Amino acid sequence: MNTKLPAERVRTGYMWDERLMWHDTGRAGGLLESGGWIEPYEHNEHPDAKRRIHNLFTACELTDRLTPVPSRVATKAELGLIHSDTYLDSIERGSKGRGGEAGPFTVFGRGSFEIAARAVGGLLNAVDMVLDGELENAYALLRPPGHHAGRDVGLGGCIFANVAIAAAYATQVRGLKHVAVVDFDAHHGNGTQEAFYSDPSVLTISVHQRNWYTLKGNVDETGEGPGAGFAINVPLPSGSGKGAYLAAFDQVILPALRRCQPELILCAAGFDAGAFDPTSSMILGSDAFREIVDRLIHVSRDVCDGRFVMSHEGGYSPWATPFSVLAAIEALSGVKTEIEDPYLTFIKDSPDQELLPHQAEAIAQAVQAAGLEI
Ligand SMILES: [Zn+2]
Repeated sequence: MNTKLPAERVRTGYMWDERLMWHDTGRAGGLLESGGWIEPYEHNEHPDAKRRIHNLFTACELTDRLTPVPSRVATKAELGLIHSDTYLDSIERGSKGRGGEAGPFTVFGRGSFEIAARAVGGLLNAVDMVLDGELENAYALLRPPGHHAGRDVGLGGCIFANVAIAAAYATQVRGLKHVAVVDFDAHHGNGTQEAFYSDPSVLTISVHQRNWYTLKGNVDETGEGPGAGFAINVPLPSGSGKGAYLAAFDQVILPALRRCQPELILCAAGFDAGAFDPTSSMILGSDAFREIVDRLIHVSRDVCDGRFVMSHEGGYSPWATPFSVLAAIEALSGVKTEIEDPYLTFIKDSPDQELLPHQAEAIAQAVQAAGLEI
């Protein structure tokens, strides 16, 4: 493993645009639209969880030490790298009117087409700046998220398949031969996997809560046709903590990345495996997210000159998520703020943070399914 680059060589981009916060997911109770016995409240995919991340970065002056990545509205041709014209037209039509529904749990408001396309364009700018050597790595703090969206349908708050579009852009527009996507969101990255299931140019890896939303991502889903072996899933039992996640990275994800030798690593960075998140039953703290990103940085330096772009996905605790993303960006940028995560104290010493036998068994199955046994 390479030694770390000197801190001054790390140049980390940060994509943020307040306009992305104006995507309206309507009144809801979590994922479900309000109505019946559900009193109108907020959709999980609400701007506050993201805005509070950015506010924390600004308050501690971290943003001053990152390089701004501008947003832009992705073109229809770029969105069409993954999505059908019919789907794009339907979202655009609704967006010009009073909004609509892109798919299950994916309500959108007026103007959301341009907002979601702007999120994609900002991510593509980050990819361009990293590939052009202007940045070593980057974080796109965007919404709506993307990894559940398919070719013809949105899902779980995702309208456009942000990371999948970025991977297709890197291969088809920028001409890379091999790209890898690592998804550590608590929910399986079904949309990303589907987009490249028979495509060997993009390795998709997802570590997520087993038998949970969307009930996909089983260990035996490994790709098909020419893409056989280029999808890897590490479904972890509910209740998994730092020990299980780090073992999954050390035994499956990092060896798979070294075997693939991608020219760019993309990351669907979901923080909803956090202990305080309302949408999963995992128990990660900011310390685990820091170590996960640290590992990904190291492997990206070993295999692709550090070219690593993270795209924000889930993370729905408005109060705890900001500290987890802060830890991730500290690892990414090499910048250490003075901030200690005040919520970590509740979870870090739990014995359940250790790798437990049933979790080790699940990881061993993933090792075998990925053909990574020694
Ligand atoms: Zn999620």
